[in-house]
Amino acid sequence: MSVKDRASILPGGHTANAAYWMDDSNGVFMTSTYYMNELPVWVTSFNQKNHAQRYMSQNWNPLFPVETYIQSSADNNAYEGKFAGETATTFPHQTDKLRLSDIKKTPFGNSIVFNFAKEAIIEEKLGQGSVTDFLAISCSSPDYVGHMFGLNAIEIEDTYLRLDRDIADFLTYLDEKVGEGNYTLFLTADHGAAHNPQFMMDNKIPAGFFYASKLKDEVNTFLAKAFKSDKLLVRQVGENFIWLNHGATDSLKLDETLVKKEILKCLKSHTEIQYVVDMENVQNALLPKALKEMAINGYNTKRSGEILLLLQPGWFEAYATTGTTHGTWNPYDTHIPMLWYGWGIKSGATERKMHMTDISATIATLLHIQMPNGCIGECIGEVLK
Ligand SMILES: [Zn+2]
Repeated sequence: MSVKDRASILPGGHTANAAYWMDDSNGVFMTSTYYMNELPVWVTSFNQKNHAQRYMSQNWNPLFPVETYIQSSADNNAYEGKFAGETATTFPHQTDKLRLSDIKKTPFGNSIVFNFAKEAIIEEKLGQGSVTDFLAISCSSPDYVGHMFGLNAIEIEDTYLRLDRDIADFLTYLDEKVGEGNYTLFLTADHGAAHNPQFMMDNKIPAGFFYASKLKDEVNTFLAKAFKSDKLLVRQVGENFIWLNHGATDSLKLDETLVKKEILKCLKSHTEIQYVVDMENVQNALLPKALKEMAINGYNTKRSGEILLLLQPGWFEAYATTGTTHGTWNPYDTHIPMLWYGWGIKSGATERKMHMTDISATIATLLHIQMPNGCIGECIGEVLK
């Protein structure tokens, strides 16, 4: 469950009994006929209680006096985005004037999901049967708030202070309803995020906004000259890739190796691009070993583009000049927390590098079952009792 559709569906896998996410049109939880033809009665009655409206009518004020937010920049700055209709980026945010589904862009998006999870635990009798139940909760609001306000915003600090409270409250609930030591909990993230590039530049750290559509036009103009054709030979630039237009290269009977060579030539002058990799030839690319492995891990042979673009640290593909995004290999983007807690878990901490793909292998080991069929991770032995 999540306020975000994909954050709800993907963690559940193919055989989930249910997945719920927020309907953008009215701020209530919905599902798909993939799982069921009608919402369970408990979901409908949860939806009828107008939780989103109750949260949004409170407006978003910081939890503590604004001057105590010492991990953040000043509230009023040039790096933050605004909600629709706002003229300043500062608190309070009049959430009562927003659409109900905008709750996902506030810390209340986490609170409503935890409320929903509590209801599910009771109504679906989770933890009461003879078979282990799996409940995946995605707190997607830190992602939305981060995109809009960037990492150094008081809004982000406030979102995490509130999330911390929501998690504490949920753990207390689990202890009461399922029983202390009767459940295993893991907590992780799907990514980090970059600082706003303008904020970095203003603090003397090289960074910048990369505009994929501009690069696409430039490469296509370069190729048009090289191959003396006005057919657009590059279909798309984005998500760190360049996709060739196979229809165009076929109709011109062009050798795509030559097209890729020309693209590499065109990109030589782009100092914001650190590495350009022809993925067909990734094993021979002059790329640090760690990056090569990540490039291969992130490559889908059916869907990815032919050429991988790795930007300089601090750069990312921009959709706005305020706020931030994610999707790069850099530590700020890929270094994520991993916490384990409860039944079967040994207390301790480690700095050893491990991966999110190790989580399912560890859970399978705890449950004495086979790993999922596509699992490439390894069991994290240190966390097991
Ligand atoms: Zn995101």
